[in-house]
Amino acid sequence: MDIRDGFIGTIGNTPLIRLEGPSKATGCNILGKAEFLNPGGSVKDRAAIAIVRDAERRGVLKPGGTIVEGTAGNTGIGLALVGNALGYRTVIVMPETQSQEKKDMLRLVGADLRLVPALPYKDPGNYVRYSERLAAELAESEPNGAVWANQFDNTANREGHRQTTGREIWEQTDGTVDAFTCAVGTGGTLAGVGMALKERNPKVRIVLADPFGSAIYNHYAIGELKAEGSSITEGIGQGRITANLDGAPVDDWEQIPDDEALELIFDLLKTQGLVLGGSSGINVAAAVRVARKLGPGHTIATILCDGGQRYQSKLFNPAFLREKNLPVPSWLDN
Ligand code: PMP
Repeated sequence: MDIRDGFIGTIGNTPLIRLEGPSKATGCNILGKAEFLNPGGSVKDRAAIAIVRDAERRGVLKPGGTIVEGTAGNTGIGLALVGNALGYRTVIVMPETQSQEKKDMLRLVGADLRLVPALPYKDPGNYVRYSERLAAELAESEPNGAVWANQFDNTANREGHRQTTGREIWEQTDGTVDAFTCAVGTGGTLAGVGMALKERNPKVRIVLADPFGSAIYNHYAIGELKAEGSSITEGIGQGRITANLDGAPVDDWEQIPDDEALELIFDLLKTQGLVLGGSSGINVAAAVRVARKLGPGHTIATILCDGGQRYQSKLFNPAFLREKNLPVPSWLDN
C-alpha cells in the first residue's frame, strides 16, 4: 500500500527532475526539485507545516486558533490549506501588487485576505509589519487566540527545510550533489537546504541566486545591503538579513536578470512540458552559470518553487511582457 494522509501527508518527498536542456548545454547534471508538485502548489507548503507544527509543540497555537501571516501569497496558500486540514482559521496579509491568481486562490481556499499597499519594510504599513500588529490584536479578540507565523524570522521555517528538502536532495542524489542554487524570499529554503547539505559534505557549494531589485546579492558580493534595478519575479528578493538567512552557508552568488530567467522558463515549458514560475527561472539560470564555472561532469541541484499558472496574467501575458521589454514566448506572440 502507498497511501498518503490528506494534505499534510502529501507535502514533501517531491521528485528531483533532470532538466535536459540545461544539462545538455553544460555537460552537467542540472536537477530541479519539483516543489510545484506540493499539494498547495509551492515550496512554501513545507514552511507552512513546519511553522504550524512548531507552534503547536510550543503550545502557542491552540485548537481552533487563528494563524496570521504576511506573505507574497504562496506561504498564505500553504498556511490556509494546512489550517483547513488541522482546524485553524487563517488571516493573510498580502501586498496588492502580487498576482491576481494568488489572490483568487487565497479567497478560494477560504483565507481571510487583507490586501495592503506595497511598502518597504521600514514603513509600518509594510505587509509583514501590518500582519504582526494584526496578530497581536487578534490574539486578544479571537476566542481561541491567534499566532503570527512570522515566516521571515521564525527559524522553524529553515529547520523544516533542513530536515526535509535538504535531506531529500542528498538522498535522491546518493550524496553526489556538488552544488545547490537558490533564491531568497525568507531565506528558509537556501539556509535549510544549505545547512543539510554542508552537514553531510562541507564541500557542497551553496550559491545564492538573486533577482535585480534585491539587496541580498550586494550583501554577499560587496558587504552592503544595497538594491539596484528591478524584477517581475514574485516571492523572492529581500532587503534585510532575516533570522532565517542569518548564518546561512553561502559560498558564491549570482545576480540574474529577468530575461535570462524567462528564456529558461519558456524553454523548459516548450521542450520539457514543465510549467514554472519566475523564481524557478532565476534558480535554474544560476544553476546553469554554476555548471559553466565548475565544468562538465558536475551535479547541480536547484528548486522549482512553484508553477507558471500562478502567474499567467504576467509571465505568460504578451502585453505585460512587452510593456516591460521582456521576451515573449514564441507560441503566444501573435
Ligand atoms: N519562490 C517563490 C515563488 C516563493 O513564493 C518563495 C517564498 N516567498 C520563494 C521562492 C523563496 O523561498 P524562501 O522563502 O524559502 O526563501
